[in-house]
Amino acid sequence: MRTLIRGGWIVGFQGETHALLRDGVVVFEDGVILHVGAGFDGDVDREIDAGGMLVAPGFIDMHVHGGHRASHRLITDTGRPDYFGQPFLEISVPREGTRPAGDPRYTRPDQAGATEGTDLHATFTVAELLRNGVTTFMEIGSQLRVQEGLLKEVDRLGARAYLGPGFDSGRWVADDKGRLKRALDEAAGWREFEGAVDFIKRVEGSCGDRVRGILIPREAETCTPDLLRATRKAADELKVPISTHAAYNVIEFYELVTEHRMTPVELLESVGLLGPDLTIGHGNLVAENPQLNFAGGRDVELMGEYGASISHCPVNIARRGRCLDSWERYRKAGVNIALGSDTYPRDFMMQMRVASYFGKVIGRNLRAATAADVFEAATLGGARALGRDDLGRLAPGARADIIIVDISGRGTLRYGPVRDPIKSLVECGIGDDVRTVIVDGEVRMEEGRIPGVDIESLRRQAQEAAESAWDRLQDWDALGRTAEEMSPWSFPLLK
Ligand SMILES: [Zn+2]
Repeated sequence: MRTLIRGGWIVGFQGETHALLRDGVVVFEDGVILHVGAGFDGDVDREIDAGGMLVAPGFIDMHVHGGHRASHRLITDTGRPDYFGQPFLEISVPREGTRPAGDPRYTRPDQAGATEGTDLHATFTVAELLRNGVTTFMEIGSQLRVQEGLLKEVDRLGARAYLGPGFDSGRWVADDKGRLKRALDEAAGWREFEGAVDFIKRVEGSCGDRVRGILIPREAETCTPDLLRATRKAADELKVPISTHAAYNVIEFYELVTEHRMTPVELLESVGLLGPDLTIGHGNLVAENPQLNFAGGRDVELMGEYGASISHCPVNIARRGRCLDSWERYRKAGVNIALGSDTYPRDFMMQMRVASYFGKVIGRNLRAATAADVFEAATLGGARALGRDDLGRLAPGARADIIIVDISGRGTLRYGPVRDPIKSLVECGIGDDVRTVIVDGEVRMEEGRIPGVDIESLRRQAQEAAESAWDRLQDWDALGRTAEEMSPWSFPLLK
């Protein structure tokens, strides 16, 4: 079936980057874009009216942790000073011998309710991404069962995804005094790695090639150099990309410098992991970042030399008092910047806006991190990181992953007068403005509705699951705290 979308503004593609076309059309057939231009002479089977709207490539979220992220809601405006702002330590390091409750990423397979939890998290993740115009996402590090759940929902709801179970040689736990220590289990790491390779071989190209595999050694500091070397070898053999968290955490940085006399990025180079197929999760706490007080670092230059990417998650790191220092330095060094939501909300307008404003403030330069830069990072940045020249753009031959965004403000005055639709989107847009999401030529979200998902029921289930997770915090929290102790209310609760 051949479909024509009549804009509106079209975000076309020219040479290396996007170009704007006013009142244009996009034509696609069998999941592939045939034509982008001012008009189209051939026959079409259906027409989608996007008059006054913005027709753009779908967003690519390069840093998704599956689930509704209930536990993350406990650390806004608070946290343990000895964790230096690192969110995953706050919400996932259990007292030794226990496991975090209410998150299937950490649930034992034999635990009651494990499967339902996994299904709810998977549906919530894929639905939230589609609702916000994300057509391709990469999950970073959840265990096999979570990947299986996501695979099912990606198949059913029609998103595009890079999936692969994470692996590592050990985890962080807390001792009886609440102190961080590393629990090593190298054998388990190798088993997880073998499982990941098997999963990737099984899913690569499935769901009509909407699903591909990715190798995820979870964090630079929790994997042995041998496991990282094996990852490089497997990536070359399987021809799949790699992603890991590195240069993302003050403790990780100092641990690796102490242990190896190398920064995290230098360590990645030493094991052969740096390359154009590697996306470094965050990559913001590099040697050059003044927040680390390290002398003579050249991490950004190294990442650029190898053409590596980072998944920059501007909202999540800003919430923890950290930033990318700086957008311009990364770009000048040749580092490819992709965007990720990491936690919540999975709203790419918000991610782009925060990336842009922080880029300007940290760079002390109003010309830094422009609307074009951050829109590129949200689309082409992800495509480059994944080695895909058929994603992130509206061009003949590219996959028909298209979003239609209502830039009228939908009954509000939020947008005001719109001159440049990309600048308006970055400054005034919200994820809810996405009206239609098309993946591989199929409409997967329309007017807020996703076929096969009851959004109100999903929201209710997530609220219930979250309340239960918050109630059980003291069962596993490293300091034995209740949710109220860990996360005081913004204002006192009137009794
Ligand atoms: Zn992450």
